[in-house]
Amino acid sequence: MTRFDMMLTNALLATPKGNRARAGSVQGAVSILEDAVIGINGDTIAYAGPPLEGAASDRTVSCAGRLVTPGLVDAHTHLVFGGWRQHELRQKIAGASYLEILQSGGGILSTVKSTRAISLDELARKTAAHLGGMFRHGTTTAECKSGYGLDDETEAKQLEAAAMNDGRPVDVVRTFMGAHAVPPEYSNDRQGYLRLLTETILPGIAKENLAEFCDVFCETGVFSVQESLVILRKARELGLGLKAHVDEIDPVGGAEMAAEAGCVSAEHLIAASDEGIAALAGAGVIAVLLPLTSLYLGKPFARARAMIDAGVPVAVATDFNPGSCPCPNLQLAMNFACTGLRMTPEEALTAVTLNAAAAVGRADSIGSVEKGKKADLVIWTAADLESLFYKFGMNQADSVIKSGTLYIVREETVKQKWS
Ligand SMILES: [Zn+2]
Repeated sequence: MTRFDMMLTNALLATPKGNRARAGSVQGAVSILEDAVIGINGDTIAYAGPPLEGAASDRTVSCAGRLVTPGLVDAHTHLVFGGWRQHELRQKIAGASYLEILQSGGGILSTVKSTRAISLDELARKTAAHLGGMFRHGTTTAECKSGYGLDDETEAKQLEAAAMNDGRPVDVVRTFMGAHAVPPEYSNDRQGYLRLLTETILPGIAKENLAEFCDVFCETGVFSVQESLVILRKARELGLGLKAHVDEIDPVGGAEMAAEAGCVSAEHLIAASDEGIAALAGAGVIAVLLPLTSLYLGKPFARARAMIDAGVPVAVATDFNPGSCPCPNLQLAMNFACTGLRMTPEEALTAVTLNAAAAVGRADSIGSVEKGKKADLVIWTAADLESLFYKFGMNQADSVIKSGTLYIVREETVKQKWS
């Protein structure tokens, strides 16, 4: 007789398998098992497979044939920020571009102002609320970038606010992104800001262990390929993993830069060239695609099919941030991974689980439902995998299991308050 702390029965289990990113034709190699049983001990998956003779648990959940997947991993967010940017909506409707809004003092720089002004505690509370929304939609791990401080103190404050929320209940992976924009006080001294970043802020972040990764915004009008390489090389020297926002607006050779620098992931990639895609494939860099940002900005979707055909492992994330994607719902990104990026449901599932886990350096512990991995799972209201990707605009998460604890997240029946 096998006893588990918790056991799910009669699940339609859909999961990629393995401990690393899946590329090319195996990106969509998802295992689908009807009438599956998942046994959990502590915070770890002890069994996942067909019904097990003699298995029992005091905490047995019948999934009634509904879909169960790994907990979702949101591999690209900017979730720690002060303020919002609702006032930019009218500028966007009038046709202003991202760079035009930035040049008029809005965009990132307006968020920098609010993030510098907010206290650490208030910032941590605001972050907790965002993570709560993500969790209710099935996200169990979220990457979180700094980059709204652009000074020593505020960059550290952002990463501390993220750390204060780690594991409550969403696990947070921290990325330092001081190279998100040049702050206004250095607008006439780019070299001065680059020196500040590489000689003071980055070493401080590394010394205090405030981040696992370093990211740069390599784009026309932001940081050049050469500047990005200098920053990323310094980060590597200091022991950080590397990521880069590249080729979002123009094909400036950012994907090639990310491959050359040895980045774990290259993100956005809307304008990536064929050469850039080949370079990513050659270096095994994970493409983190952000279809909600394309949708929100009215931009083309990244060429996911070309990337998958070239053998680039593709992950999909929200890009949750107060400017180009004020939406923390990864389910919506999954819908547009299919209809916008033209990925199959199986490829898209891998993109928000195992490949996303690999993009944040966690593929050995999360991203699939397999023995030995962390017990992070979602029980969906969806009856099958296609339904999960087909329906959109409503929350299809029923329950989320995070580190072995079950949370019911489904929307409750409407209750009348006054009559
Ligand atoms: Zn971003």
